[in-house]
Amino acid sequence: MKNLDKYLSLLGEQVDGLLLTSRFSRHYGAEFDIAEGVAVVSRKGCRYFTDSRYIESAQKGIQGFDVIMTDRAHPYAQQLNEAIADFGIIALGYEENYLTVAEFSEFEKKLNAKLVPMHKAISSFRAVKEPWELDIMRRAQAIADKAFSKVLTRIKVGMTEKELQAELIYCLYKNGGEGLSFDPIVVSGPNTSLPHGVATDRVIREGDFVTMDFGLMLKGYCSDMTRTVAIGYATDEMKKVYNTVLQAQLAGIAATRAGVKGKDIDAAARKVIVDAGYGDYFGHGYGHSLGMEVHEAPNCNPSGETVMEVGMVASAEPGIYLPGKFGVRIEDVVIFTADGCENITKSPKDLIII
Ligand code: ZN
Ligand code: ZN
Repeated sequence: MKNLDKYLSLLGEQVDGLLLTSRFSRHYGAEFDIAEGVAVVSRKGCRYFTDSRYIESAQKGIQGFDVIMTDRAHPYAQQLNEAIADFGIIALGYEENYLTVAEFSEFEKKLNAKLVPMHKAISSFRAVKEPWELDIMRRAQAIADKAFSKVLTRIKVGMTEKELQAELIYCLYKNGGEGLSFDPIVVSGPNTSLPHGVATDRVIREGDFVTMDFGLMLKGYCSDMTRTVAIGYATDEMKKVYNTVLQAQLAGIAATRAGVKGKDIDAAARKVIVDAGYGDYFGHGYGHSLGMEVHEAPNCNPSGETVMEVGMVASAEPGIYLPGKFGVRIEDVVIFTADGCENITKSPKDLIII
């Protein structure tokens, strides 16, 4: 099914048009990524508005919409009102999660249609990925795996977390990344107990754990992975915690298949950590979905009630964080299949000591 047809299926009693403002929804509906613009979807026609900076690529790449240029003489609001009139739109569904209050007030004041919040329905289609989306995500992850293997050769005792972060970013772009899913997390030594710590000037030393959590953008899709490596040596406690996290992740992955609720996958992984006595030190959820955004619904956490479906994607990222000492997180991304999952993260997971 074309993505645009999925949006058309939302039109009926509640709304007779959709106003797509987020880059994600425009990308999804048009199956082509344009940084800025606004699109209108209706059964009588679909229009995609953007300005002179993007018009040429939009006209070449966008399918299913009439692509129209905006400029000072023909601003968005005026063109949207023409579409509203031409298509006879009375109620227009909009993405309340992706508009600022100022933007919403502007639309509410100027547009000749009733605005109806529809974020949940509009974004719901993105949970189950189409084969072409999964293909991009596999390719993005392959680049991240390659970048990780390269950055391992660049980690040196004496460099700072920030320097290693810079090397990691270089490797992500050098190997084909088109952007970053988020600012990479690079933490070392006691800083590894901060699940989402920020790289500092701390110098990496022998006996440290180093955790790198990173992702790149490819064709508008995100990758996400985490590896924790030891520098020089690892103590028995470090090895025990590392292996507990790894066993928890493997238990979560073993429980991953379509038809299972997100919370059951979380529970399978969490049990390993609780049984090992570290239950108090795994505060976050086991996994999240991702795609055009690095965090999407549904989640695999203790409150994850969604029954997972074939073609959904989730991270598998348990962790143990011992304040003041160290932390470990290992993160892969898997695709749900009927009888299990496909792990698209190929980097090794046995403890690497550099
Ligand atoms: Zn991550
Ligand atoms: Zn993640």
